[in-house]
Amino acid sequence: MSIRKTLSYDDVLLVPQYSSIASRRDVDISCKLDENITLQLPIIASPMDTISGFDMAMTISKMGGMAIIHRYMDTIDQATIITNVKKDDMAIVGAAIGTGPEAVIRAQALINAGVDVLCVDVAHGHHALVKQTLETLVPIAKNNNVHIMAGNVATPEAGYELGSWGANSVRVGIGGGSICSTRIQTGHGMPTFQSVLDSAQVADSAGVKLIADGGIKNSGDIVKSFAAGADFVMVGSLLAGTDECPGRIVSMNGRKYKEYRGMASEEAQMSWRGRTSSLEGVASMVPYRGSVVPILQQLDNGIRSGFSYSGARTFEEFASSCEMIQQTPAGQTESSTHIRVRYG
Ligand code: IMP
Repeated sequence: MSIRKTLSYDDVLLVPQYSSIASRRDVDISCKLDENITLQLPIIASPMDTISGFDMAMTISKMGGMAIIHRYMDTIDQATIITNVKKDDMAIVGAAIGTGPEAVIRAQALINAGVDVLCVDVAHGHHALVKQTLETLVPIAKNNNVHIMAGNVATPEAGYELGSWGANSVRVGIGGGSICSTRIQTGHGMPTFQSVLDSAQVADSAGVKLIADGGIKNSGDIVKSFAAGADFVMVGSLLAGTDECPGRIVSMNGRKYKEYRGMASEEAQMSWRGRTSSLEGVASMVPYRGSVVPILQQLDNGIRSGFSYSGARTFEEFASSCEMIQQTPAGQTESSTHIRVRYG
């Protein structure tokens, strides 16, 4: 058996290119999800019960991005969130569903509520159950002008098949999430950066948009995702601990925290179905960070700066101008802040 070498975000860097961009404001980072939906900020909040509820959906939509409302609640509650978000006429919002007949019933309720994007949200998306669900769902979604996102996948074959089953966009990344223990539990996964790089080879022929999902730590990783071929990124931990995340603030030893947990963690499984099966995630407390607004502004600025370093004003220009290199472990050390504190 030959074993292939793969790359993670920290293995690569973008080479700075000549730029004539005077201001970050001259950079347009908007991206089309489909003919009807364009996001001004190509960031999607994860469908997790400690990330995406009503408040996150409203705020991130106002900032140009989109949240996928998580599916770990009754259909009526999820549909009510969608209805409430769509009061704001300009809001763009998605909602997650699972697989099988119940998921199709949930999808119909979400469509009635005005959802823009339905996300078939499964840990291993290259699966017969996803295929069966899409067979029923795709005609319904098409009739109602609703976008279908599906995933997660790790390989170009999987991305291609999901496209052929009717998905309009695909979440790419298995095992890379900050709260994910899939690789430890199952031995399976693929660095998200490499999965995106590979999947980008088939995205056009499959007719799907790519969403890099899992393990994105900063705006630099977002820019690297786009260089690898992603159209959007999906993030959890980058937004965790903010006011707009569901959940309360907890004080411990004089500091404030909020919970951020994987949906396959023991804690999440117990709360949404009262029992656990395979544990593929962890729960953690993250420092409370106030509003998500300045965090999204920072990410927006970081992406614009990133495009500017590649001399690009748009996604199209960035795709043709960006150049990636692989860095050595010494390069990785140099790439992180590495000031040494000296005394005396
Ligand atoms: P993060 O941005 O690195 O925190 O990763 C968030 C992503 O992790 C989500 O968008 C999901 O794709 C994934 N995820 C969420 N919950 C779990 C879990 O319990 N196990 C594995 N992956 C998860």
